[in-house]
Amino acid sequence: MLTDKELAVARAAKGFMPDEEGLALHDAGLDGGNVGPLLEIGSYCGKSGVYLGAAARARGVVLFTLDHHHGSDENQAGWEHHDTDVVDPRTGRMDTLPFFRRTIEDAGLEDAVVGVLGDSPTVGRFWTTPLGFLFIDGGHAEDVAMADYLTWAHHVLADGVLAIHDVFEDPDQGGQAPFHVWQRAVADGFTPLSTTGSLRTLRR
Ligand code: SAH
Ligand code: MG
Repeated sequence: MLTDKELAVARAAKGFMPDEEGLALHDAGLDGGNVGPLLEIGSYCGKSGVYLGAAARARGVVLFTLDHHHGSDENQAGWEHHDTDVVDPRTGRMDTLPFFRRTIEDAGLEDAVVGVLGDSPTVGRFWTTPLGFLFIDGGHAEDVAMADYLTWAHHVLADGVLAIHDVFEDPDQGGQAPFHVWQRAVADGFTPLSTTGSLRTLRR
């Protein structure tokens, strides 16, 4: 259960997480949070982090949420998902870190959400903590999304939950990389659990 404040902050935050999918993500986080800590690839402005952070708190674990905060290719100027508000005027580069911090602060979740600043494969090279829940929502290019899966999925404990966002089976609906990651996870022995919009969950 999210508090009214958490829900209001999640709904108001910039990002790419429809409320229905966010609530399903929260439920998946509660499930995986019984097994171990949560980790998200792709914090952006903290929207999904509120749904997941509330789940982490409820289970007495934490959400690690990883981002270099400079945006994916599909967030850059000229692309569909670009938002000029998140450009740092000093450098002309995207910087979503201040927005992320504010969202988590406004939601009152700073004790449950640990921001990890860096490049996913780079952090992953040194990561050793087993996870109860992994959410893959970083870059959506084929090589980037698959690298996230290969870097992180093996840290998910038995009975833990893997969630993948922006999964579209039909190429007319969206890019195929997250769907290919889902197919790879199934081939690797993850069991499909649920589908809510473009959010899919699986159990290890
Ligand atoms: N989960 C967010 C949306 C994430 S958008 C929400 O619910 O709103 C994808 C994010 O992945 C972007 O913020 C981008 O900076 C990040 N990202 C892309 N490639 C990355 C990489 N290699 N390492 C770290 N973060 C990355
Ligand atoms: Mg997404």
